[in-house]
Amino acid sequence: MEKSVGEKLARLVSELRKRGYRVTAQRLAIAKIVFESIKSHPSFMEIVQAVRDAMPSISPSTVYNNLQLLEQMGFIRSFDVAGETRYDDAFPHVNLVCLDTGEIVDLEGVECVNDVVVKAGLSPRNIQNIVVYGYCSRP
Ligand SMILES: [Zn+2]
Repeated sequence: MEKSVGEKLARLVSELRKRGYRVTAQRLAIAKIVFESIKSHPSFMEIVQAVRDAMPSISPSTVYNNLQLLEQMGFIRSFDVAGETRYDDAFPHVNLVCLDTGEIVDLEGVECVNDVVVKAGLSPRNIQNIVVYGYCSRP
């Protein structure tokens, strides 16, 4: 199930400690911005911009390293759309990508994710991402 930003940050703190990573104010501030914006499937540059709005001196490589860590720890996922990496929440869902507009919409019914998972012979715990490409009905 999808968790709130507060719940994710609390779990991040305990996971970082468990794995021996430093829990810094900067790391948590970056994670908070990522968690708050993840619903919109932001690109790397969009995340860098959002982080810099709050912390102007942060370098893109610091943001990148933190994104890598969050992905490695299973908090977020990434996938490519039209050659651009987009970041996404890690809870099980299907992404519908419009090849015309580039818009990404989450399809949240668990039953539909389960259908795909079962047909693919995977366990819900090890699905990485489900992306469906098509054309939205927008004129
Ligand atoms: Zn999504």
